[in-house]
Amino acid sequence: MLLVDLREAVGNGLAIRPIRTMMNHATTELFIENLKVPVANRIGEEGKGFRYILDGMNAERTLIAAECIGDGRWFVEKATDYAGQRQVFNRPIGQNQGVQFPIARSHIQVEAAKLMCYEAARRFDAGEACGEQANMAKLLAADASWEAANVCLQTHGGFGFAEEYDVERKFRETRLYQVAPISTNMILSYVAEHVLGLPRSY
Ligand SMILES: Cc1cc2nc3c(=O)[nH]c(=O)nc-3n(C[C@H](O)[C@H](O)[C@H](O)COP(=O)(O)OP(=O)(O)OC[C@H]3O[C@@H](n4cnc5c(N)ncnc54)[C@H](O)[C@@H]3O)c2cc1C
Repeated sequence: MLLVDLREAVGNGLAIRPIRTMMNHATTELFIENLKVPVANRIGEEGKGFRYILDGMNAERTLIAAECIGDGRWFVEKATDYAGQRQVFNRPIGQNQGVQFPIARSHIQVEAAKLMCYEAARRFDAGEACGEQANMAKLLAADASWEAANVCLQTHGGFGFAEEYDVERKFRETRLYQVAPISTNMILSYVAEHVLGLPRSY
């Protein structure tokens, strides 16, 4: 694993090309060709880099799970506030169970994902194996935040699509976590193969 000084590398073997995305996220493609890196920039032992990266990925998945939980809470809070205020036929829409229940379910899903996220973080901090918990936390939290986003948008009716409420923006942002930094399918594949012992599929 190598640490690259971007200020020196760009134009000397490393090209960075920005990609415009559907949300506010600085995303780039990197092209690496004949890049020279001093041996002093090597992190840890030669040949063990992939292991170090995998270890870092568990931390990243736990971190992204925490981000999704924050998003999920924002959606639940925003939906709850709006449902309590918006009056249709002289009563708040939040008085209807058809509006209440999806918000309540989202809250439950976000809080359940939080427990798995805390367990992954606890194991990581204790130096214990945490791949299973980090992956499960990422999947549960990404699903919970995406469902909460959908519920929040629905609760806002037409205003869910209006920029001034911020719901449509965060709706787009939280969609990312079904794909990055690891797609939901890859987590299911990991759990099927490495946790449950099912046959390797690829
Ligand atoms: C905004 C943004 C920021 C990013 N930031 C970073 C970053 O900082 N660092 C970084 O390294 N990467 C980053 N990525 C890349 C991201 O990690 C990948 O896009 C993601 O892991 C999915 O990989 P892929 O794009 O190659 O999709 P593919 O692997 O091509 O997959 C495409 C689709 O097919 C499905 N699929 C693929 N293989 C299988 C299979 N065997 N079984 C079932 N389904 C399958 C996937 O689930 C996915 O839905 C970023 C991406 C985005 C969009």
